[in-house]
Amino acid sequence: MSTKKILVVEDEKPISDILKFNLVKSGYEVLCAYDGEEGLNLALSESVDLMLLDVMLPKMEGFDVLKKVREKKQNMPILMLTAREEEVDKILGLEWGADDYITKPFSMRELLARVKANLRRIVAEDNSPSGEVAAFGNLEINYARYEVMKNGDIVELTLREYELLKFLSTQPGMVFSREMLLEKVWGYEYFGDVRTVDVTIRRLREKIEDDPAHPLIIMTKRGIGYYLNK
Ligand code: CA
Repeated sequence: MSTKKILVVEDEKPISDILKFNLVKSGYEVLCAYDGEEGLNLALSESVDLMLLDVMLPKMEGFDVLKKVREKKQNMPILMLTAREEEVDKILGLEWGADDYITKPFSMRELLARVKANLRRIVAEDNSPSGEVAAFGNLEINYARYEVMKNGDIVELTLREYELLKFLSTQPGMVFSREMLLEKVWGYEYFGDVRTVDVTIRRLREKIEDDPAHPLIIMTKRGIGYYLNK
């Protein structure tokens, strides 16, 4: 397995240094940027496997970096680092989709677990659907190509949105709790916030449902969780 390259975009040098130290110790290759512009340039010019992105940055703020990177790289996992709880709602609500966030101060153990979980191919191979293509209403999932089509048009999904849809589609009709989805799709066992699941479901619905307020594909089982309509 090749070494994964992680881009750390963080202007506070002590935090950046300790992140780099621990990531390198864990076997990752690390690039550091100390402002938003430099972070954006590196994210687009280098082959980066995952980005740790601070929200408050000089020159260009983290949300703008996120948006611009997402325009070019849909699938790269991006973890936002935030110092303020009020930024969490913004991060979760972003249409460009950060894959995850972590609040400062964070434990290094938690951060490394998040990095690992976000780098991992989430759904185990033996969980994968057997066919190459599955259809749900006017939606078609092409597993071989990681592609989702709606009425014949490609739907742009982030990796996490795709993994969530794929996971639900492995057992249509089966209700999964939010905790289980967090564990299976995000790969957390101990960490994470179930709001992340709700927000990702909402974003997915906006992209794949004709009327996101009255979904016909991804259904809510009130008080329990979510399932894909057969
Ligand atoms: Ca900062």
